[in-house]
Order: sequence, then C-alpha cells, then structure tokens
Amino acid sequence: DGVDERTLALARRRSQLLGPAYRLFYRDPVHLVRGSGSHLFDADGERYLDVYNNVASVGHCHPRVVAAVQEQVATLNTHTRYLHEAVLDYAEDLLSTAPDEISQLMLLCTGSEANDLAVRVAQAHTGARGVVISSEAYHGNTDTVSQLSPALGTAQPIGPWVRTVPAPDPRLAAAEGSDDVAAWFAAKVAAAADELQEAGHGVAALLVDSIFSSDGVFPDPAGFLAPAAAAVRARGGVVIADEVQPGFARTGRAFWGFAGHGLVPDLVTTGKPMGNGIPVSGLLARPEVLASFADHLPYFNTFGGNPVSVAAAQAVLDVIRDEDLQGSALRVGAALRDDLRTLAAHSDLLGEVRGSGLYTGLEVVDPDTGAGSTALALDVVEALRQRRVLTSVCGAGGDVLKLRPPLVFSHEDGAWLLEALEDAVLEVGRRRR
Ligand code: PMP
Repeated sequence: DGVDERTLALARRRSQLLGPAYRLFYRDPVHLVRGSGSHLFDADGERYLDVYNNVASVGHCHPRVVAAVQEQVATLNTHTRYLHEAVLDYAEDLLSTAPDEISQLMLLCTGSEANDLAVRVAQAHTGARGVVISSEAYHGNTDTVSQLSPALGTAQPIGPWVRTVPAPDPRLAAAEGSDDVAAWFAAKVAAAADELQEAGHGVAALLVDSIFSSDGVFPDPAGFLAPAAAAVRARGGVVIADEVQPGFARTGRAFWGFAGHGLVPDLVTTGKPMGNGIPVSGLLARPEVLASFADHLPYFNTFGGNPVSVAAAQAVLDVIRDEDLQGSALRVGAALRDDLRTLAAHSDLLGEVRGSGLYTGLEVVDPDTGAGSTALALDVVEALRQRRVLTSVCGAGGDVLKLRPPLVFSHEDGAWLLEALEDAVLEVGRRRR
C-alpha cells in the first residue's frame, strides 16, 4: 500500500537476483543514492535523518575519509604479505587508545571475522570450548559466531558449548530480589560458566558487547561488568569485549565501551565504525593470549588491513580526535535523552529511555498494560520512516527503538528527531483507538 511502482520493481528485482536470505528495512523501502554527515538522500532528492547508522561513524562521506581513501587507492592497494608502514602507524595509534596490557592488533575485514578469530584464540589459550554470551546477543555470521548469536532466532540454534545469561536489566534483577545488578549479573555468569564446566565443555570465554545493544541497550550502572569478568577469569576463561557497537567513542564515556566498566579485557573485537564504511575490522589482544594461538597456527587474511582500509581507518581515528566526537557524543546524547524522557513522560506509548553517548534505547509500550509492545514499536519505526527519519528496533521483544546515529549527529538533528517522534507517536496512538 502506498509504495510506488519504481520501489516495488527494485525490491522485486533485488529478491530475484540476490535471493531470499536478505531483509530490507521498512514496508516502504528506502532507495538511497547519496549521504552527507548524518543525512541521507533518496533517488528523488528527499533528505532523510539517519538515526541508525554506526557504520558511517564519523558521518556519511566525511571529506577527510574520502580524501584519504582516494589518495591511497590511486597509489597502492594490495594483499597483506608485504611491508607497509601505514598499517604499523595505525596499529600504534589504535593500541594507544587501549590499556597498556593490550598491545597487539590483528586486522581483518568484518566484525564476524574478528569474533570468530577471538573465539578460536580464547579456545586455544584456555584449552576449553565453552562460551558465555547474553541471551539476545548478535556476534556475527560465520558458522562459529552464528552459534553465538541467539538474536538470529530459533532457526539458528546456539551451540551446545554455549550458555546464555539474561540482559543486565535492573528490573530483571529486582524481580529476583536483587538491587545490585553487578552482583546479580556476575552470579548469572558464574552459574553459566559452572554449567559449561559440568557439561565437559570448560570455560573459554565470556563474550560480551558492553552496551548490550541487541539485548535492548543496558549501559548502567557504569562498572557493572567487572564482577562478571572476574567470575569468568576465576573459572579459567578469558574476557572478550565485542566493541563493534560501543567502541570508537560511541558511548561518549570513553573511546572503548569496556573502559567505562573499568575493565581490561583479554581480547577486544571491533568492526563497523572503524573504517566509516570501508571494510576493516580488528582484534586487539594481550600478547600472551594471542601467542597461544598464533605461535602454532598460521593466519592469513587477504584483504585484512590492506593499505586502502588502513587509510580509511586512520582518517576515522584522526577525525574522532580532531572533531572531539567523543565529547560531542556525550553532550548531544545526554541532551537527546533528557528531551526523550520529557516526551516519554507525556506519552503513554513511550517507556524507559536508556543509553550512553549516541546510543539510546527507547521502549515502546502498550498503553493498556505498560508492557513492551513489538507491534507498536514497529508502527512507530514505520511512522518515523514516513517522516524520513530512519531507525529500527532491538531488545528481546523487538520493542526498543534503537537510536544510534553517526557521531556527528547535532543538537539540530536531535530536534528533528524529537519533532518527528512526537508526531509519529501521536499518529500511532490515534490509529490504535
Ligand atoms: N558483533 C556485534 C555486536 C554486531 O553488532 C555485529 C554486526 N551487527 C557483528 C559483531 C558482526 O559484524 P559484521 O556484520 O561486520 O560481520
């Protein structure tokens, strides 16, 4: 309904040519042709607000990233078996953002590859197989990490060597009589690790996204992950921080999500925001942990850390620093959540607002029951899309709006989002009645 012929034809051609595995966003799919900062433009020249994209982390088509890539691609791009200085300069630069204990960097192409390798390293280092993850986690698309991705749904079961723990939601803790999320979560992790040991898998790792993005965004209270990490280490496992979502200044609190928890992981993975859309990902490691794997297993990644990817990655790091995007994420994100809370207080469709920096989860609830509503959250997402504001959902019930724009998102962009959201929620509320 209401979708024009050209869009329908493109969507049909897409599924014919690319097959049935992919999903498009929105009942009325968006056909984008250009981007700039936190804005996108469709084939008719209409402007959209991007409130979802952490791939274009420093903004769509940032001129410094574009120039760096253009220059390098016109100079040299090759596989990764030759000496190249830029990759070493970048490794030094990126590692300088991490705690001293983490002093080696392997470069790959996707977040999935980074997590896949991190799990192999953890298993080689510990001699154990088992991994603990959160119950709605997504860690990627390889055979191994899709078994660590319950967010993919029941068609893709988690591995027998995997145990899940609930999201660190203070309300879940309270329902079990605890007002201490850190202790409650650590007890869940300890129990899961004990189960893995009893089942004979042993404990290789706790693999977590410290902002729990696909679980519905749970950043608080700061520091709550530290006791869970200690529980896993006490049982012989290592800690892998999946920084694909919270890393690269996203949370505003620190450059890395784990740093906001006062935690030094053994392995750190990253991807999406690292190259502003150019495929590049990383595994940062404590050398003694990496050695257990790399000392006896060769590893080759044709495209991982090629000169063009590294040029993009270096430009991203420079822009984050020079434009103080971490500070901006902190300020703009906090102001946005204040405004969202004010809006939520006046709307019976909006519930809890959670987040850190430019990562916000906003619950959509059923006004009759106060419980999260998947259907209404989707209606709000579609109503926002009709107003050319692009976002999506996360959380166990898919009832949490995921608001995660490029880091250059401004106060003015926030005002646009607020106005569209207020309007969208009114419309969805009206239609319900
Ligand atoms: N880990 C997390 C937390 C992610 O969100 C994603 C992607 N959504 C991945 C890993 C996988 O990254 P990629 O799609 O680059 O393989």
